[in-house]
Amino acid sequence: MDIEVRTHSALHVLKGAVVKVLGMDAKWTASTYVSGNHGRLTVKFNRKPSEEEVRRIEEEANNKIREDVKFNFYELDRSEAEVRWGDLIYDLFPIPREVRVLKIVEIPGWNVNACNKAHVDSTGEIGRIKIRKIRFRKSKELLEISFDVLD
Ligand SMILES: [Zn+2]
Repeated sequence: MDIEVRTHSALHVLKGAVVKVLGMDAKWTASTYVSGNHGRLTVKFNRKPSEEEVRRIEEEANNKIREDVKFNFYELDRSEAEVRWGDLIYDLFPIPREVRVLKIVEIPGWNVNACNKAHVDSTGEIGRIKIRKIRFRKSKELLEISFDVLD
């Protein structure tokens, strides 16, 4: 499996872990970045998480990988998707209004997001997530989580 597909898929797993540990205050993704096995997830958040919380985020993400959960992929009308999942499918960067059909990626009970990129079929294919660095930008209330995907 292409390493960047694994790294991108890891963003969905990591995001689910971030929301599980830090709560719904962290539900808005501000940006994502992938290069090779390196990824960065940036979420809106109002404080720097503790080392313990960061450790738990990494652990929860890797537990979800070990569970080897199948990703679900849907392609459906935007209004239907909004009825089903509400604003959980959206990130801070808006999808243009004229886009009427959305591709939805779901890890059941964990993460759901409108996303048109390529993904692995199940979380076990990702490998292992190692959080490398946390940066909290207080003025912008942005939390950046940098990670590597390892075999
Ligand atoms: Zn995606």
